[in-house]
Amino acid sequence: MASYYNDATVIFLNGSFVKAADAKMDFYSQSFHYGYSVFEGIRAYKTEKGETKIFKPVEHYERLKNSALAMNLPYTWNTDELIAATYEVLKRNNIQDAYIRPVVYAPANMSFVVNTEAFIVIEAWEMAPFLGDKLLRVMTSSFQRPNPKGFKIEAKAAGHYVNSILASQEAKAKGFDEALLTDMNDNIAEGPGANMFFEKDGKLVTPPPGNILPGITRATVFEICKKLGIAVEERLFKADELKNADAAFYCGTAAEVIGWESLDNVKFKKSWNETVSKKVQTAYKNLIIEKEPDATIKHSSGKEKSLA
Ligand code: PMP
Repeated sequence: MASYYNDATVIFLNGSFVKAADAKMDFYSQSFHYGYSVFEGIRAYKTEKGETKIFKPVEHYERLKNSALAMNLPYTWNTDELIAATYEVLKRNNIQDAYIRPVVYAPANMSFVVNTEAFIVIEAWEMAPFLGDKLLRVMTSSFQRPNPKGFKIEAKAAGHYVNSILASQEAKAKGFDEALLTDMNDNIAEGPGANMFFEKDGKLVTPPPGNILPGITRATVFEICKKLGIAVEERLFKADELKNADAAFYCGTAAEVIGWESLDNVKFKKSWNETVSKKVQTAYKNLIIEKEPDATIKHSSGKEKSLA
C-alpha cells in the first residue's frame, strides 16, 4: 500500500496543525461505522512561475459544504479559512504538486440521529501531475451507480465509494484499467472516480447531472470547450452509442483528462492525437499550471482562439 505520510507530516485537524502520526480519531465515530462522512479531492500544482496554486479551491470547499449539508452534518467552517489552512498544510509539508483530502466526519454516535457537531481534517501528500499519454482500456462494470432515489448522489459522501471500489476492483481483476458504470436504466453514468465524455464528429457528449457527481473538472471541460469553440451536449446515452464514438475520456481532479483506448475491447475510431478531446486535454494541462495557451491550437471552426 502507498505511504501517504511519515513522522514529519503535518495535517490540519479541527483548527490546529498537528503531526499526522500523533493525530487521533474516535473509533466510535459514526463515520467509521457507517461510511457517513463527506470529503473532497483537490489538487495543487507548481505553476509555470514556480508558485503553489490550488486548482479551483473555492469550488471544492463549496462542494464540501454542500455535501455536508446534504448529509445533515453540521458545517461550521468557511471557505476562506479552509483555503488558508490548506495552503498552510502545503507549506508546512513543503509540497507544491499535491493531492489534498479534506474530510468532514461525525462524532461517536451509533444511532442514526442527527449530530450536533462534526469535525474536519485536511491531509495532503505529494502527487505529480498525471495526464499520462497511455490510453485507458475501460470495461463496462457489472455494478451500477447507486440509485439517486436511495442516495444524494450529487454529494461526495464516503459511503458512495464502496460502489466505486467494487467496480474498480472488478475491472482491474479482469485485466482492464478502469470501470465504467451505468445508471439504473442502463444509461452511461461515470467512472468510479471520474466523469466521462465521448467525442463524435468533433463534438463532445456527456451524461447530465442526476446520476453522477457533477465534477469540477467536468465543469472546467465545459469552460475549455466554450473557449475552444467545441460543442458539448449533456444528454443520456447507452453503451452501443458510446462504442461507436470517435474517442472518449475520463476527467476528474485526480485523473485530470485521460483518453480511452477502448471500451469492452472495442477500440475508438480516431487516433487520440487527431481528436478534439486531445485539444481539451492539452488545454487542461496548460490551465492547471497557468501556462500560456499554445497559440497554435487549431479549433473546429478553423479559427485560432486563445484560452486565456
Ligand atoms: N465522479 C466521481 C464519482 C468522483 O469521485 C469524482 C472525483 N471527485 C468525479 C466524478 C470528478 O469530480 P472532480 O472533477 O470534481 O474531481
